[in-house]
Amino acid sequence: MKSSTRVAIIGGGVVGCSVLYHLTKLGWSDVMLIERSELTSGSTWHAAGGFHTLNGDTNMAALQGYTIKLYKELEDITGMSCGLHHSGGITLADNQDRFDMLVAERAKHRYMGLDTEILGPAEIGKLAPITNLDGIVGGLYDPLDGHLDPSGTTHAYAKAARMDGATIETHCKVTETNQRPDGTWDVVTEKGTIHAEHVVNAGGLWAREVAAMAGIYAPLHPMEHQYIVTDDIPEIYNRDSEHPHVIDPGGESYLRQEGRGLCIGFYEKPCRPWGVDGTPWDFGHELLPDDFDKIEDSIAFAYERFPVLATAGVKSVIHGPFTFAPDGNPLVGPVPGVRNYWSACGVMAGFSQGGGVGLMLAQWMIEGECERDVTALDVARYGSWITPGYTRPKVIENYQTRFSVSYPNEELPAARPHRTTPMYDTFTALGAVWGHQFGLEVVNYFAKDGDPTYETPTFRRSDAWNATKREVQAVRNGVGINEVQNFGKFRVTGPGARAWLDRIMAGRIPQPGRMSLTPMLSPKGRLWGDFTVSCLSEEEFQLTASYGAQDIHHRWFQQNASDDCTVENISNRRTGFQIAGPKARDLLKACTRNDVDSIKFLDVRHMTIGQVACIVQRVSYTGDLGFEIFCDPMDQRQLWQTLWEAGQPMGITPFGMRAMMSLRLDRFFGSWQREFSPDYTAAETGMDRFISFKKNTDFIGRAAAEAERANPPARTLVSFEVDADDADVVAYEPVFINDQVAGFCTSGGYSHHADKSIAMALVPREHAVNGLVAEIEIMGKRHKATRVTEHLFDPDMTAMRG
Ligand SMILES: Cc1cc2nc3c(=O)[nH]c(=O)nc-3n(C[C@H](O)[C@H](O)[C@H](O)COP(=O)(O)OP(=O)(O)OC[C@H]3O[C@@H](n4cnc5c(N)ncnc54)[C@H](O)[C@@H]3O)c2cc1C
Repeated sequence: MKSSTRVAIIGGGVVGCSVLYHLTKLGWSDVMLIERSELTSGSTWHAAGGFHTLNGDTNMAALQGYTIKLYKELEDITGMSCGLHHSGGITLADNQDRFDMLVAERAKHRYMGLDTEILGPAEIGKLAPITNLDGIVGGLYDPLDGHLDPSGTTHAYAKAARMDGATIETHCKVTETNQRPDGTWDVVTEKGTIHAEHVVNAGGLWAREVAAMAGIYAPLHPMEHQYIVTDDIPEIYNRDSEHPHVIDPGGESYLRQEGRGLCIGFYEKPCRPWGVDGTPWDFGHELLPDDFDKIEDSIAFAYERFPVLATAGVKSVIHGPFTFAPDGNPLVGPVPGVRNYWSACGVMAGFSQGGGVGLMLAQWMIEGECERDVTALDVARYGSWITPGYTRPKVIENYQTRFSVSYPNEELPAARPHRTTPMYDTFTALGAVWGHQFGLEVVNYFAKDGDPTYETPTFRRSDAWNATKREVQAVRNGVGINEVQNFGKFRVTGPGARAWLDRIMAGRIPQPGRMSLTPMLSPKGRLWGDFTVSCLSEEEFQLTASYGAQDIHHRWFQQNASDDCTVENISNRRTGFQIAGPKARDLLKACTRNDVDSIKFLDVRHMTIGQVACIVQRVSYTGDLGFEIFCDPMDQRQLWQTLWEAGQPMGITPFGMRAMMSLRLDRFFGSWQREFSPDYTAAETGMDRFISFKKNTDFIGRAAAEAERANPPARTLVSFEVDADDADVVAYEPVFINDQVAGFCTSGGYSHHADKSIAMALVPREHAVNGLVAEIEIMGKRHKATRVTEHLFDPDMTAMRG
């Protein structure tokens, strides 16, 4: 056995083998996979082998598309068969909401170049004649759907990797991973120790145990899962062509042809987590005992939907465990705080996603960044707040809702509230309807006067409409208050702080007492953050950005650390409130003896508000006159008391994120993970106006940004007013120009201030002219969309800057 390698991958399931293949494909051949038994000895061997592209997250859907197209390449390279069956697949909709979701997915597929199709019941009946069409509204057909041979495919990945120099060591259990002071690893196995520069955890069913060897908690959990293979069925074996896959979300089932019969699997509601206290090391090629009781209701439903099943005999039952992360997406990438340790686990659909996961991880390791935004699968999307006690109920919820409709305004209830601020009870008493972000409870809106205390999930305008409008108007006409807890916040201190920031951030770093907005770029010029930098003194800066991205950002800061400054994640150590609206200044004045009148737009000051020491900065994402007031969490309730009491004569109104996201539309402010994400560059999104090309620093991404300046990108961000009816843009709706799909929406919503439906979209630069009239598809209907360039609120910026 080799004693050293550049990369040691632990785990020879489909995911580990895909990572191995992609590392070699991208040029690293000194790579090694270590497997405790034979390849496929975890979940992989008993998978049903189905694959499909449909995924609510657009980047995941694209990676699934990549994975599916890769199998042909593997077969060509290796001469091995992956046992591919491109039978096509239909996802059924048995109610209008589910149909709405499929129509919205189809709309996204238009610009993604996926050839899916919405079908009516009659067309479904022709393609999948064993389906009882009672109650079926329609379905989505995807010609790419199909299935394969799990073992053959895994071995094809392995062979392709070996052909490019990779090594595979089977029957070699890893027992320890110990980091050396230089950041490299000693991977201790039953056959000896391997010195590796990088370790990849692809331990699948044992990923938790493998992670624990390095002191890491991997937030995933195995669930039991069962599928049944039937005896021969004449309606199947008498067909001229293979029966397509049919996913019946109403019945929690997926079905496909298997030989001359059918195979049907279930995501049953009475599901069961497996291996709660760990996966036994001696678990191998055995299956779990059949459990028909657990899937009794699902089977009864399936007999109704596919009557041929009722009379078919059962040939075999496969019941085995596989792992899920709390949101069902993989856990991929560099583990924060652990140098050269990479995660490739939590992949619950290895045959739809494994190729994409391997490609992304290999790009990340070799090139330093991925070709697309991988936030949805980034292991750092969970922070140190996550525990097994949170993961388990969330994984159960995810399993149970695997085929449920997922709505853009939906808030899933399991494991909540998890983290709360000192304001939780106060806001609840004021009617707060809570959402959550990165484990934290965040107010969506305050229910009053008969507003719903639970926002009904929908693809259309929700019943939080009145509450949102009321809060928007309160801000625009008086003064609103909300928490600033859900900002990611960093403190940068030390003599090298300014120089470090100048290198990390593309924009101008402000002078003491001032703030600036700046993009943070990747080396290839993608957006890795949109930051507000506040200079508290020459050696102390506060950064604010997305709360949900705080660990992703912190990881980047650590990877690019300097000896001359310290960067602390203070997201939960600094909290406070934002006050915004025409009376915000009067409110602040009523709460402090410090001078307020002289605070200019983008000033930052230390102030005493009431009896609390605060950092006050004049800026507001509402686009209005506003102040962000930061304090220690221990002081937050005292600060609230001061602001709330002083604000009573002014009609102070608490507002939530629904209002905030409406208010920002009035000034076309972009938002992280919507307009701004690693999928886009600064010049595409207008963030280039904050880049300081004048500064004499080779900031990260400079060369790429300069190149874009010389040669502007093909697409650009614009805003539209949409003639919408009862549904507004959410994200990724296609934009038609001259009847062709020319772009897509990044986000949108309803401006309650201007009473207009607004969309923000990336369109070809040549079309981004004043007066552009396009069409945007919302809920299957095209709506006229007229470009707007003048802000809907405060176009001359007297409120914001005055
Ligand atoms: C019943 C069932 C049906 C399924 N159907 C489908 C389907 O139709 N389509 C689909 O896409 N997915 C399906 N899946 C899910 C699929 O099986 C998984 O997504 C996939 O197998 C995950 O692969 P993996 O490589 O991450 O993990 P695993 O397959 O669990 O591989 C992990 C490997 O790591 C090895 N290992 C662990 N610890 C060590 C160590 N310390 N030292 C050395 N080696 C170690 C293990 O031996 C194992 O071989 C199904 C799962 C089940 C249970």
